[in-house]
Amino acid sequence: MRHRTRHERWLHARIPEALEDALKREARRRRWPVSTLVRDVLEGALDMVEHIVEDSVEIARRSSGARRHVRRHLALDAVYGWQEIILNRPADCASCAVALGSGDPAYRGLSDEPGLPLFLCSKCTHRLRQPGKKKEGVS
Ligand SMILES: [Zn+2]
Repeated sequence: MRHRTRHERWLHARIPEALEDALKREARRRRWPVSTLVRDVLEGALDMVEHIVEDSVEIARRSSGARRHVRRHLALDAVYGWQEIILNRPADCASCAVALGSGDPAYRGLSDEPGLPLFLCSKCTHRLRQPGKKKEGVS
């Protein structure tokens, strides 16, 4: 139970007779005053709602992360080649997410698909050249 503050208020609410009976029965069973039980039930319900909201936010966050991951993979799969360039503005490596600054060498993905340009860092393109990695591409 939460710590009770000194600023407690009265809350009157109309409830069905069956609910009143159920609350009184449960209060008797626990040997609590009915008001304590009602407060406990309401606090429990609010905590539950807060957890449901927090869980929903977390699920939405994970799902949007998964969608981004899938979109990035699809975009990388559409790349037919990597062309070495010198960046004129900062970008992130599409594979390892390392920050690439302006003036840094990078590899721009050439793709048949529309969309934002993809860049790879030197390390990630180096992995492409290693034996056994050619068929897999970058992920
Ligand atoms: Zn990289």
